[in-house]
Amino acid sequence: MGEVEDPAGEAHGVDEAREVDVVVIGAGQAGLAAAHHLRRTGFEPERDFVVLDHAPAPGGAWQFRWPSLTYGKVHGMHALPGMELTGADPDRPSAEVVPEYFEAYERAFDLRVRRPVDVRAVREGTGGRLLVESSDGVWSTRALINATGTWDRPFVPRYPGQETFRGRQLHTARYPGPEAFAGLRVVVVGGGASATQHLLEIAPYAAGTTWVTRRPPVFREGPFDEDAGRAAVALVEERVRQGLPPKSVVSVTGLPLNDAIRRGLADGVLDRLPMFDRITEDGVEWDGGRHVAADVILWATGFRAAVDHLAPLRLREPGGGIRVEGTRAVADPRVHLVGYGPSASTIGANRAGRAAVRDIRRLLAREPVAV
Ligand SMILES: Cc1cc2nc3c(=O)[nH]c(=O)nc-3n(C[C@H](O)[C@H](O)[C@H](O)COP(=O)(O)OP(=O)(O)OC[C@H]3O[C@@H](n4cnc5c(N)ncnc54)[C@H](O)[C@@H]3O)c2cc1C
Repeated sequence: MGEVEDPAGEAHGVDEAREVDVVVIGAGQAGLAAAHHLRRTGFEPERDFVVLDHAPAPGGAWQFRWPSLTYGKVHGMHALPGMELTGADPDRPSAEVVPEYFEAYERAFDLRVRRPVDVRAVREGTGGRLLVESSDGVWSTRALINATGTWDRPFVPRYPGQETFRGRQLHTARYPGPEAFAGLRVVVVGGGASATQHLLEIAPYAAGTTWVTRRPPVFREGPFDEDAGRAAVALVEERVRQGLPPKSVVSVTGLPLNDAIRRGLADGVLDRLPMFDRITEDGVEWDGGRHVAADVILWATGFRAAVDHLAPLRLREPGGGIRVEGTRAVADPRVHLVGYGPSASTIGANRAGRAAVRDIRRLLAREPVAV
């Protein structure tokens, strides 16, 4: 194995791998919750564990959310364990509010996140350890908490004719806010909360909007209580237990029928068409001859788990997902996935962080690895 360059110009061969008990990859909600529980149970940052994150600043994926996604518009963000987020102005962008809170949190609990550090691969080491190869050198660790989220892997499905489209195609991950669509004809694809938010924002600016989804959207009346939440999480949990790729929790909860959605339904902005069959040079087309002209196709088609760096560990099942029991990868008990599948929500990430640390403490005490 070769050497890995770090930004400071040092090179770390595998021989120089720094040894820790736990590496946490990712400093979003899930990674910080895990780091908090490590710290709380006696692990020292830099000595016993490190947190690596390739984003330039604190905030996890929140720092990249579009400016019009104000804090008041996010649907139920749970605080990190041990420190509330109080007094936030609901009209400020969540891309400012949440990163400021995360930064204060990292400082308050002295988590010493290393950034920007990109983890490129995790592979089997010697003596039962894992090697974490990164832009800042190599770590040799007894356990791994993977908290890399989904933001780095936007998903765009393939449709015939896609490459011929002369307009602009972009994904939710690059959504710049509604003003960029002034005077344009926009097709929004996808049945989740991002799609409805995009449509409601863009419609007043655009020359026209069209909404297409694969399945008819399901709107949920009334409050989303704990029972409904538990049932939704259980559905996603069952998928990852079987080694299938997780679905987003939102995909099984339905869309909350709030005032904005009601207005959109009443004034036709949320009239939905079934998925088109092909993309043409100047729009989208259905079998049977319907054609809608478009300048922009906005793909609000979700994200996949950002776990490519785990590929050398061969954790993937034939179904395409990583089988997970609780947070532990079934194929490798040293590896925990937090914020993955059923724990891909802010509350789920908190719980997963705690569960992973509990499990890892047991693993480390039961099976000390000779160094
Ligand atoms: C538009 C949008 C709105 C949402 N709103 C809500 C909401 O209101 N309430 C809610 O509960 N949930 C919401 N969610 C889901 C939300 O994203 C999760 O609940 C939670 O914030 C995800 O936290 P995380 O720590 O798993 O991931 P992230 O916040 O994505 O953090 C992952 C971190 O890992 C780092 N990383 C990734 N790959 C690597 C690598 N190879 N090497 C080093 N670092 C790496 C990234 O830089 C990032 O900082 C929303 C999601 C989206 C897309």
